[in-house]
Formats: sequence, C-alpha cells, structure tokens
Amino acid sequence: MNPDFQAWLPVGREAAQAEPLGLYLHVPFCVDRCTYCSFATTRDRSLQPQALRRLMADAATWGADLGRPAVDTLYLGGGTPSLLTSEELEALTAAIRGAYDLSPLAEATLEANPGTVDLAWLQRARSLGWDRISLGVQALDDALLARLGRIHGSAQALEALDLAARVGFRRRSADLMVGIPGQSLSKVLEDARTLAGTGVEHLSVYLLDLDKACPLRAEIDAGRLALPGEDEVADVFEALQEELPRLGLAPYEISNYARPGAESRHNTRYWERRPYLGLGPSAASQLGNRRWTESGIIPAWIEGRGEVDLQELDAAEVLAEIPLLGLRLHRGLDWGGLRSRAEGLELRPLCDAWEAKLRSLQKEGLTVWTGNRVCLSARGMLMSNGILQMFV
Ligand code: SF4
Repeated sequence: MNPDFQAWLPVGREAAQAEPLGLYLHVPFCVDRCTYCSFATTRDRSLQPQALRRLMADAATWGADLGRPAVDTLYLGGGTPSLLTSEELEALTAAIRGAYDLSPLAEATLEANPGTVDLAWLQRARSLGWDRISLGVQALDDALLARLGRIHGSAQALEALDLAARVGFRRRSADLMVGIPGQSLSKVLEDARTLAGTGVEHLSVYLLDLDKACPLRAEIDAGRLALPGEDEVADVFEALQEELPRLGLAPYEISNYARPGAESRHNTRYWERRPYLGLGPSAASQLGNRRWTESGIIPAWIEGRGEVDLQELDAAEVLAEIPLLGLRLHRGLDWGGLRSRAEGLELRPLCDAWEAKLRSLQKEGLTVWTGNRVCLSARGMLMSNGILQMFV
C-alpha cells in the first residue's frame, strides 16, 4: 500500500464505518475501441486473468483494511464488464461478498455492451445478485453507431434490453448520446421514444465528449465530419426535457431521467457527496476529505506500480463540492443546512457570496428558491456548466 495511505488509514476506516459505502469496480476491457472513447480500457484480453486477480486482491485488501465496511451500492463499470465470463463474474462477486458487509445493499449495477450479452450470461449475472443493468445503447441508428465505432447495431441493443427484462433485472438503464455528427433532433427524440417504449426504468442522456484525443476528434479536426452546432444541441436537450416526462421518465439530475423510484442510487451518492471506494485502473475513491484515483495505465495498475493521484481537500474545498454536486440534482439542496455547516467551519462569508449569486440568478429564471432550498430551473440545468463554475 502507498505509504501516504498507511498514515491516513485510521481516518479512512472511521469514515468507512460511519456510513455504508458505494463500491465501484472497473473492468478495463473492450472488444474494440469506440471512436470517441478516452476511458481506461484495452482490447488486449490476454491481460484479463491477471487484471481480475488484481481486482479481487484489491477488493480483499481494502475490505480488510477498512474493517469489512458496509456497502449499500455496487457498480461494476468499464470498459465492458459483460466481457467477464460467467465464472469470472461469479469469482468477483464472491470476492466482494467475502470482503464487505452487503447486508444494506440497495442496488447492484452491471454495465453491459449490447454486443456482448446473451441470455445465459444475463441469467447467470442476475442469479448472482446483480439487479440493475446499464446498457450502452447510445443511438438507434446503425450508421451513427458505426460512426461511433460501436460493436452492435440498434436491433441488438433493443434485444439486449428485452433479454435483461426477461431474466428479471429489476431496473434497466439505457445511455443515449446527443451531439453525434450527423444526428438530427428528430432522430434523438424518436430514439428516446423507442427506448421509453421498451419500458426502461432509467435513461442517461449525455453529450458526446471529445475533449481528449480520439479518432472521431481527428475526423472532425480534419474537416471530414462536423459536430452539430451548440444551439442545435441545446434544442435537443430542451426537447428531451419536455418529452421524456410525458413518456414517464422524469428528470432527477442534469443528464438522468427515471421512472418513480428508479433513480440510480449509486450515481446519486456521488451528487450527494457520500463516500465511495473505487477499484481498478482509473477508478476514483472518496473517503472523508481524501480522494484518490488509481493509475489509468492498465499494465502498471495490474503490477501495482502505477501512480495513485492522492488529494487531501481542505474544509472550503469540501464545502464547495456540496453545491457543485448537489445542484445537479433536480431536488436541489438544503441551503440552510449548508449555511449551518459553513458557520461551523467559519466559512460563512464564502457561503454568503455563493448565496448572493444564486439569488441573483433567480431574477434571470435560472434558480428557484423555495424557503431555504435552492435548485436550478429547467433553463438553469441547460446552462449548468457556467453556473456551477462559481464553486470550482
Ligand atoms: S464500449 Fe465503452 S469503454 Fe469500451 S471503447 Fe466503447 S465507449 Fe469505451
């Protein structure tokens, strides 16, 4: 273990014992690399057995070091967790059960690529206790999927959603991407309607992000493809804000819609700034005022020689993260509670300055104050990037 962790472990253990954790595990393998992807993932499946051993060893070590903490949300992400064989998934699930107290478990999510699942695998995953599945659908247009380098077509995505329902996943989520070169507003709305029509309980709608170098970015920079304009993208998000609630999927976070009670509990914990432990390359953890990110270099991570980026947050940084994350949620946050917390930390002037700005944004229709609660309006959600900068 990193010597910095050794010194801090008693504090981390106290934080992990104070309330149940979220546990995230990153499976860093994909069949092929999508043209827009910058995640820590590789096509080199020869590394898979070693990576799985490392993931299970880390799960055991952290579980022991933190005193077998309680875990109430589990998330197996990637990469493509559905590339694990049934046996590997079973071994990983057993390792988690052995190292953590899962008695308060409220949700266990698996990410899956529609191009890698079949009935038998889904049945096995469900029988192991995984009860929520998040499928990377992205779009229901085969030409756009090919442009994104996805390994599946739209029919396969719809079939995967159907299979997941048939084997009894209690909640299914689909990702829908906005801003793909060549994607029209009407097609996004049509895809959203089709997905809602499958009965999915949750939809994540996110903007294609090409900040980092990737083949799709290179195509755009070379002028061979063009991204939709900002106004067009804003129109799409606005139209979805109106259409999805009509289809039974209510917005609960900037990018996320759910049927009543089907909000992602694991992701909500990030916006509520509740503690989580992340294992695997590039996985992030947060316990108390410490946050760290594992190395994203997969071979180095497997061999335990990757650099861990460890951060200690001061009181003002922790305080700022509460509205920075909490205002992403449609229910907003209890500003009175934040003010009391700021007073206890002698940070009241900082909190007052934020409050003055958030109150002035109400006049522009971007925030809504109800007593001591504040949230972003629908228009504020569309402009959240700029608004939330005040907390950075
Ligand atoms: S499936 Fe997901 S993680 Fe894998 S390459 Fe595509 S976008 Fe990246």
